[in-house]
Amino acid sequence: MSSVVANGSSKSPKTHEIKFTKLFINGDFVDSISGNTFETINPTTEEVIAKVAEGRKEDVDLAVKAAREAFDNGPWPRLSGEARRNIMLRFADLIDENADKIATLEVMDGGKLFGASKYFEVPICSETFRYFAGASDKIRGATLKMSRNIQAYTLREPIGVVGHIIPWNVPAYTFATKVAPSLAAGCTMVIKPAEHTPLTALFLAHLSKLAGVPDGVINVVNGFGETAGAAISSHMDIDAVTFTGSTEVGRAVMKAAAESNLKPVSLELGGKSPFIVFDDADLDKAAELAVIGNLNNKGEMCVAGCRVFVQEGVHDVFVKKLEGMVKAWPIGDPFDLATRHGPQNNKQQYEKVLSCIENGKKEGATLVTGGKPFGEKGYYIEPTLFTNVTDDMSIANEEIFGPVISVFKFKTVEEVIKRANATKYGLASGIMTKNIDIANTVSRSIKAGAVWINCYLALDRDAPHGGYKMSGFGREQGLEALEHYLQLKTVATPIYDSPWL
Ligand code: NAD
Repeated sequence: MSSVVANGSSKSPKTHEIKFTKLFINGDFVDSISGNTFETINPTTEEVIAKVAEGRKEDVDLAVKAAREAFDNGPWPRLSGEARRNIMLRFADLIDENADKIATLEVMDGGKLFGASKYFEVPICSETFRYFAGASDKIRGATLKMSRNIQAYTLREPIGVVGHIIPWNVPAYTFATKVAPSLAAGCTMVIKPAEHTPLTALFLAHLSKLAGVPDGVINVVNGFGETAGAAISSHMDIDAVTFTGSTEVGRAVMKAAAESNLKPVSLELGGKSPFIVFDDADLDKAAELAVIGNLNNKGEMCVAGCRVFVQEGVHDVFVKKLEGMVKAWPIGDPFDLATRHGPQNNKQQYEKVLSCIENGKKEGATLVTGGKPFGEKGYYIEPTLFTNVTDDMSIANEEIFGPVISVFKFKTVEEVIKRANATKYGLASGIMTKNIDIANTVSRSIKAGAVWINCYLALDRDAPHGGYKMSGFGREQGLEALEHYLQLKTVATPIYDSPWL
């Protein structure tokens, strides 16, 4: 017996008419040039939800042309920051007004929980637009103290047409974290959602038009990575690319950018984050955070704290608590508000997670609970807990991106720092201790873009998010996110006509 079946009442809508399935180019929904479509599947029912226009290189070319025209000659980059801000604020309000519809699409297309989506992620999307709307009228340069009789200042100008390549685990959230700062900076863009979750971006593009974002500023080209995605990263007329996804594809995107027009790239990649529980930690809280940090969004989180290191003095007690919580994690219909655990996003991912679990068993980790598919239909996997995991096992090293928690035992602070850092990734980390010296030492020693002390998943629109090492580079969220969409120009002129310039 692994998890309990959710059995709560639900007033959620369960379905939403799919209105937008075409490409969104220059403010219109259009068929792909080839006329090809692809199916998008509901992971709860395994049924086809819709056939979506499949964009390829020629469609990306059209979208880039529209974005180029909107950037070179259109109003968006030339609007005052205040005017851009007001349109973005309207966009944010429309997102809130359509929270039911957006959340329903997220459930149907990606198996996300309706409650978490409507009450947590959709509000994060609208607030992200408001946060960056607030920045759009504050993008300033500096006055320079030149060494000669020249006055000079810097301008921070929008970089141009940007390409956004998006993964499937948090489609609306990733759309917001990329689109909001690039809009605030005055850029125009071509967005490629993941092929498993093409629908929310189209709906958000429709809302952007209602909000008054001019035609050509936001373009959405659904399609596959090797065709539509690759056409974006190698495009000669795209000025910068942001990519969120796997490390392997991130490398391909960077290579294509280098081999085309040397466009700057920002990469938000995979992770294998440590969550460290010291002997003095509040164990109830630590167990709860280990569960949330691994099982939320059915474990499909780049920042999952999936390597749970527990100090030997509390190891056994902690594992017992964790086991109880994992077994009690309610699995079921993602529209049911009592459910905490829905199906994996897609069949390919479902099979990958099951195969990682098999490897964990074969390599000798102790399977405490879970480890199997759940139910008759849908890509459900029981929340899974392994103990006695050692650093050499594949489940200790490979990103699983599913509901699998691995527990490791350690003795000393020095040892756990070394082991926590023994990974190619460096996205996030968690430390559970009441000892300020341990918290300070470990937080400064961990090679990761985020350290969460006595908390986990402390992501925020004001907190720069990004990786160390092979988790990528560049930051999303926070005012730092604007930097990728701006470039710096130095303007100089003589103060007066002087022979000493
Ligand atoms: P993925 O790398 O397979 O795909 C991501 C996107 O890239 C998709 O839109 C895909 O179509 C596109 N793509 C695929 N091949 C391409 C190519 N050759 N050129 C250009 N684009 C291409 O990743 P995924 O399976 O969709 O997402 C899961 C991964 O994303 C995990 O590794 C996860 O850790 C990572 N992720 C990271 C963050 C972060 O903030 N660091 C956030 C979410 C997900």
